[in-house]
Amino acid sequence: MTEFEEPTQEEIEQLYSRLAKDAKQGGYYLNPDVDFVKGLVKGLIVNERRYGYQACPCRLAGEDKAQDLDIICPCNYRDADINDFGACYCALYVSRAVLRGEKELGSIPERRPPLEEREILKANKQASGAESGILKQKLSVPVWRCVVCGYLCGRDDPPEVCPICKAGKDRFERFI
Ligand code: SF4
Repeated sequence: MTEFEEPTQEEIEQLYSRLAKDAKQGGYYLNPDVDFVKGLVKGLIVNERRYGYQACPCRLAGEDKAQDLDIICPCNYRDADINDFGACYCALYVSRAVLRGEKELGSIPERRPPLEEREILKANKQASGAESGILKQKLSVPVWRCVVCGYLCGRDDPPEVCPICKAGKDRFERFI
């Protein structure tokens, strides 16, 4: 017996369709191996039940959303991995070259830094944010950056959902 209810086929199909639609709209490509992708989609649903958020199905989540924000799918490392290796770490998303069969997929190294390093990076970012205080004062509205895809927008608050990669509001950071 599993601790959490197994995702139904209908749930898997629904999330798969949504991811496929979002990918198309945002200029991303799902891995063409549909069964493989649906296996990952199932993992996302299981993680949502387990942790309350869709943690990456290929990584060990820490059950702390604040510390796992970077690996909520789509993770912060997706675009760089697609660019450098032709796929995200799980190979849920692939590059156009991989999709077209022009590039073969190899292994994808883990880009996520260890927790200690992530904490240092976070502290450094906060420090550099404080330094840009003068520029902040000159702008009439704050500029927000999506940490997943780099989308920038100037408005009082970040959008609920990134219009490009569909990451949630909590994946935006104050850019300026
Ligand atoms: S985008 Fe990131 S979080 Fe989502 S499946 Fe790929 S590696 Fe995992």
